[in-house]
Amino acid sequence: MTATFRFAPSPNGPLHLGHALSALLNLDMARSVNGRVLLRIEDIDTVRCTPDLVSAMLDDLHWIGFDADPPHRRQSEHFADYADALQRLGAMGLIYKAVLTRAEIRHVVAQRDAAGLSWPRDPDGAPLYPGDAALLSEAEVTTRLAQGEPYALRLDMTRALQMAGTPLDWLETGTGPAGESGQVTADPSAWGDVILARKDTPTSYHLSVVVDDARQGITHVVRGHDLFHATSVHRLLQHLLDLPAPVYQHHRLITGPDGRKLSKSAGDTGLRDLREAGWTPADIRARIGL
Ligand code: GLU
Repeated sequence: MTATFRFAPSPNGPLHLGHALSALLNLDMARSVNGRVLLRIEDIDTVRCTPDLVSAMLDDLHWIGFDADPPHRRQSEHFADYADALQRLGAMGLIYKAVLTRAEIRHVVAQRDAAGLSWPRDPDGAPLYPGDAALLSEAEVTTRLAQGEPYALRLDMTRALQMAGTPLDWLETGTGPAGESGQVTADPSAWGDVILARKDTPTSYHLSVVVDDARQGITHVVRGHDLFHATSVHRLLQHLLDLPAPVYQHHRLITGPDGRKLSKSAGDTGLRDLREAGWTPADIRARIGL
């Protein structure tokens, strides 16, 4: 089997040095084993991912020398694939419509926290979904849905873990944020009932990433530390959907001068700005330690 890598940016802001590290690491690793490296445009957020951002992204990638092997995959062209996977999970009884608003979740969590029952947070720091029943009767849930109110399609984590039955793990050839490496045990329960789709969006990051990694025949996932814990959810979905598990390698993040992780939205130095300031692709490689 040909080793197949991918770089999977979400074009909802300009690319920065952190993206350059991920893209070029994938490229270098693929080339060093005579493998393939694919580009996947993660544009399920069709409002934020504008055509201008996508073309600027392609231009920046070309400039740094990230020449992916064809074909490129654009998630916005594959909603039917994700809907199909969602339907399979639904048929297994693992999906429910969750109607609590963000404000209501905050309210339940504040109540629990105030009662000294500190509510569990997921690895990204967001409170776990408390379940509709924390605030609403079954009849109220039904009424909201009948009135056409927004909802999220969530994975029933307890049932999903019961169905999976066996503990899951993955091969980590990099290191996690706490130095995890080798065979790592997945802990999907740390995420609670994750969102897999919304009323108006038939997928989520977690769902589309596992479907696409399988569709594209990805054997090696190389991405930043910030997605290390998400791998637990990905392994569970792969298991439930009968998809192969790639090898994972999570890499260091590039930080700004203040030690903060770079982010698109925070307006950190983008590749475009550096190029306009006279940097060369070789300067970029040197700055990110490649
Ligand atoms: N689209 C994700 C991001 O830009 C990365 C997805 C992945 O590598 O699994 O953060």
